[in-house]
Amino acid sequence: MRIVFIGPPGAGKGTQCGRLTERLGIPHLSTGEMLRGTERNSPLGKIVASYIDHGRLAPDYLVLPIVTQRLSEADCLGGCLLDGFPRTVNQAEKLDQFLAENAWKLDVVLNLTVPSEVLIARLLQRAEQENRADDTDETIAARLEIFRTQTAPVLDYYQQQKLVKSIDGSKNPDEVFELICQAVG
Ligand code: ADP
Repeated sequence: MRIVFIGPPGAGKGTQCGRLTERLGIPHLSTGEMLRGTERNSPLGKIVASYIDHGRLAPDYLVLPIVTQRLSEADCLGGCLLDGFPRTVNQAEKLDQFLAENAWKLDVVLNLTVPSEVLIARLLQRAEQENRADDTDETIAARLEIFRTQTAPVLDYYQQQKLVKSIDGSKNPDEVFELICQAVG
């Protein structure tokens, strides 16, 4: 199965993707984790940090090769769960092209929805617990705005392909996971 997981920052994508990949036995590809994993003191890492530390999207020339390279690795040939990608319609189009070149396709796009006041509360709490450089008031606002303007259109793009299933992410993690399992069948 090839699954795309979409949800605003703080929706619980990381938690649910962790559970789902275990259940389905497919790798979890988080572009946020891949980008944060770039050595911060390297020249490339400095460029990456200059975007993500401010809640801005990393440019496609950095993100696209990372994703397509990873998708070509042996453990992804049987399927994978994409978390945090695609985040723009351009990325979605590039992903479709890449999948088509390999005679692959997406099976489902999961849309995890959570009201924005709940998101903000969760993100501020995570900021205290995890000390992530991008969990500050300002960057949280920037990331939510980018989601609204750039990533929400990706859902429209996939609606046209009839791939989207929406999940209520405001319930507790076990209940959300149950809904996700039902959606993927
Ligand atoms: P969150 O769910 O809080 O948005 P992620 O770990 O998914 O966190 O992403 C963290 C940051 O990594 C994003 O704010 C963005 O700067 C960068 N990033 C992740 N995925 C992409 C992508 N597909 N394109 C561009 N930038 C990305």
